[in-house]
This record gives sequence, C-alpha cells and structure tokens, in this order.
Amino acid sequence: MGVDFIGLTDRCSNLIEVKPITGCNLNCIYCWVSDIEKTNDFTIPSDYIVEEFSKLKRLKKHPVQAHLLSHGDILLYKQLPELVKDLKSLNATTSIDCHLQSLTQSLVQELIDSGLDRLNVTIDTLNPEKVFLIYKQEFDLEDKLEIIKQAALKLDIVISPVLMPSINKDEALAFINWVKKHIPKRKHPRLLFQKYIPYNPSQGLKSESFKTFKEFLKSLELKTGEHLIFKPEEFGIFKDECSKPVFKLGQHVNVQLISPSRVKNQFLGIAKNKLLKCNASKELLSNVKNKDQPFIGAYFQAIITRVINNCYECQLISNKTPQNY
Ligand code: SF4
Repeated sequence: MGVDFIGLTDRCSNLIEVKPITGCNLNCIYCWVSDIEKTNDFTIPSDYIVEEFSKLKRLKKHPVQAHLLSHGDILLYKQLPELVKDLKSLNATTSIDCHLQSLTQSLVQELIDSGLDRLNVTIDTLNPEKVFLIYKQEFDLEDKLEIIKQAALKLDIVISPVLMPSINKDEALAFINWVKKHIPKRKHPRLLFQKYIPYNPSQGLKSESFKTFKEFLKSLELKTGEHLIFKPEEFGIFKDECSKPVFKLGQHVNVQLISPSRVKNQFLGIAKNKLLKCNASKELLSNVKNKDQPFIGAYFQAIITRVINNCYECQLISNKTPQNY
C-alpha cells in the first residue's frame, strides 16, 4: 500500500482496489497512462497481495469486494486466475476491469473456473472500421464480441465504453441495443458509459462537460428504458471503515529509496512500512554519479506533498546516513 499505480488502494468503502501489475501492450486513443514517460513496470506476487488483502479486509463492516484493475492491461498478469481464486477463498466478491484485445475464450473460462463474479469490459466501438482509429492496432472485433456473448451466459458482464464526442458518441444507441440483445439483465447494471476525460489535452480529442454527459445519458434512458446512471450501492458498494493515513501533508519523514518509479526523476521509497512516490529536484539528481541506479538503497529526509486515501507522495530534501535514519 502507498502508491496509486500498484498494490492495494483503500478508498474508504467495502471495495478494495487490487492492482497486481503495470504495463500495457495496447495504445488506446484516450490513454493517459501510455502518454507518461515510463521508465519501469512492476508486478506483485499473488500470495503477497492476498496476505495484505486479508489484513485490510478485517477493517470492513460490509461484505468486501476485490476489484482487480491496472494502470495498464491487467490481462498480462500471469497469476490472474490464481489471484481470483485466492481472493474468493477469503469470501470477497471479485471483479475485473479489462480491455477487449487480450481476452481469449480460454482465459475467460479459467477466470470463471476460479470463481470470478463480474467482468467489466471496456468496448469502445461495435464498428470494425473504427478499431484502428481507437486502438492504433487491428484485432478481430467480431471474434472478441463473441467471447463476451458466451461469457455473459455464465458470468455478470458490465460493458463500459469510453464515450468520446468526436469518435464514438454516435454509437451510444447501438451499444444499448447490443447490450439488450446479448447481455442478460441480472442483479447489477450491465452497461456503464464512461465519460472521456482529457487528462492530456495534446491528444486533441473533443470532450464535453459532466452536465452535458449526464443529460445525454438521461435522454437515452428515456428513449430506450435502459438504466444508465448509477449509484455505487447498485454495485453493492458502500462507505466503510478504512485504514488510517500514516502521514500528514507537510510532515517530514525519513525514507529509503528502493527503486526507480514509473516516470523519470521519480523513485519509490519506503517509510513506516508504506510505499511512497518520491520526487527529486534537478539539483539533487545532478549530483548522482551512477546514472543507472541513482540513489537506490540511499536514505533521505523528505517532506510529504500529497496524501490521498492511503497513497502518498513526497519531495526528497537531503541525504541521510543509515545510522541516523
Ligand atoms: S489498456 Fe489502459 S493503459 Fe493500456 S493503452 Fe488502453 S487505456 Fe492505456
């Protein structure tokens, strides 16, 4: 716990985010993860995740959900079925957020056999001619949609397109009709339109306000009778106890750097048994002799600059020796 892109994230509800891997072979048009200058990818062994998850689960009052996702493509995680199975054995409801491209019939079957409860799949078009435009690669869309149709017979499926005004908003009605035809109506919602958020304006994609987006969904609800605007409770998600933050904004801490982080000039550090993203100034970096492994293993004094849920960021200030750490 401690960084947002890997590990466990506790947002004070009964849903615990589980991110076992970073890294992605895809190239979605709206992606902000692929736009950052990445230097490193990470993966966590399944048994370690399960061990830490079970500690966090003890805090919760409501039935716990393990929501598996990634700042990347979670389907690249080799131990995914094993992780689902072990989380299920802790009585957690399990769901996975994924894209379509890496999904195969055999992987879906393995996940069903492991006890997966719900698959949230981002499908951004039903038109094979738009595949390259959206993903900068070709794949057989019909084939992938068939996998989803088959999976829907045995598993809860949520289709979650990212609606982009200039790219696929005109397909919204087609999505509703497709879902009505192929995804059985069960306890949870089956279609969840996501609003495109321009994290990186240089993508040059048109966006819209939340108000416009919500009004559009309301008009579709009226026209089609399909429920499209949800509260977290409809997915069984409720506010709950959460792990207390171990650092405060502005607090001085001693950290040991253990690895380069995902982006340039940022490192991962450990303090009080938590991970932190640690930013280094240019002056600090210019003093580094070993440019391949700068600072790794070294101890620093740092100041906490960001605290969100149980995720932390700090600015490195000065070196410390292990003796006075
Ligand atoms: S799957 Fe996710 S991380 Fe990968 S390119 Fe698409 S949006 Fe980005």
